[in-house]
Amino acid sequence: MIVKPKVRGFICTTAHPDGCKAIVKSQIDYVKSQPKADGVKKVLVIGSSMGYGLASRIVSAYSFGAATLGVIFDKASNGSRTGTAGWYNTAAFEEFAQADGLYAKTINGDAYSKEIKDKVIETIKKDLGKVDMVVYSLAAPRRTTADGTIYTSVLKTVGKAYTNKTIDLKTKTVSDITVEPASEDEINATIKVMGGEDWKEWIEALKAADAITDNAVTVAYSYIGPEITHAIYADGSIGKAKDHLFRTAQEITAADDGIKAYISVNKALVTQSSAAIPIVPLYISILYKVMKEHNVHEGCIEQMYRLFNQKLFGGEVQTDAECRIRLDDLEMLPEIQSDVNKLWQDISTENLDTHTDLDGYWDDFYKLFGFNADGVDYDADTDIDKKIPSIE
Ligand code: NAD
Repeated sequence: MIVKPKVRGFICTTAHPDGCKAIVKSQIDYVKSQPKADGVKKVLVIGSSMGYGLASRIVSAYSFGAATLGVIFDKASNGSRTGTAGWYNTAAFEEFAQADGLYAKTINGDAYSKEIKDKVIETIKKDLGKVDMVVYSLAAPRRTTADGTIYTSVLKTVGKAYTNKTIDLKTKTVSDITVEPASEDEINATIKVMGGEDWKEWIEALKAADAITDNAVTVAYSYIGPEITHAIYADGSIGKAKDHLFRTAQEITAADDGIKAYISVNKALVTQSSAAIPIVPLYISILYKVMKEHNVHEGCIEQMYRLFNQKLFGGEVQTDAECRIRLDDLEMLPEIQSDVNKLWQDISTENLDTHTDLDGYWDDFYKLFGFNADGVDYDADTDIDKKIPSIE
């Protein structure tokens, strides 16, 4: 099949297997080009097929030589439709890891379910004994709990409506958007999906099965961002879930059995989940421009390299006063935020070309789905039926 991008709203419904492979390879090559280090050796990555989770898996494997077990929720091709990008990324990662002599297996299914937790634990017991790190990097729109209830997360404000600028990426127009406040039920559902309850269930299940070491480290990801995004993010419904995630980290550590849980506050980047948030994509496209001009721009792989090699395992764990790891340190530099703010105040449809890095935004967006990769012939036929080696 000749695979072309089909963009619908803020997702692309096709993915290119060779492009995904090339992009995974470029992330691996980046890590290979950096000094190797000593760190964790057996890593479980929950949400390992895209974005920060995939980058965490690549860094664990290629910086520390770790065995990685990934949990994904992806689809193979059915013959007429392409597989998901996460499927192709995982197939490529496993192929590279095996060729490089690294253990890599993947379980495909709903990470929130008991069935998948049981499968993961069985694989750990059989192949690895115990894991010494758990990365929790889920970004999900909904969660079904054991009693069958479906909770759907929302990206809304809390308390009162908020109006600010947003961008329609397709028509390249800037307009005002008003985001309505979430109801109490919607806030609670968002906490169920994106808060820490499931993270804790994973750690408890691993402990009960004796499948996690006594001094293991676990990390989950969060975002804070500048004032202009607070109403929709840090103080919004997703922010309430992230507050819960943070309290969960404290609870896991407070159990005092040696396992340490951290929240890493990461940089805003184009991923499948951030593209869906109102206001944020316009902020990101300005941020990209400013960070590139200041020569401090990073993608998921550079962020995760820094997390694993400097902040988490490069000696003492580096945190702020509230015990959070700050990978958003460069994004939040006063000179970066002051430049972003000036552009934000002035931004309109007419000056998008001079005030944003929209090309960089779109390039990252297409790359999420395996398009725009160097060295891939997108006019050539490709086999969309790729196997993930460890999945039957
Ligand atoms: P992403 O959409 O790129 O990746 C999410 C991953 O979760 C995918 O691999 C997806 O397949 C997997 N997943 C979703 N539902 C699942 C399920 N039910 N079972 C198993 N796997 C499932 O998202 P991302 O941006 O990398 O986000 C990861 C974490 O990082 C989130 O907690 C997010 O809030 C946080 N974060 C993101 C940003 C950003 O700007 N993108 C910034 C800071 C923090």
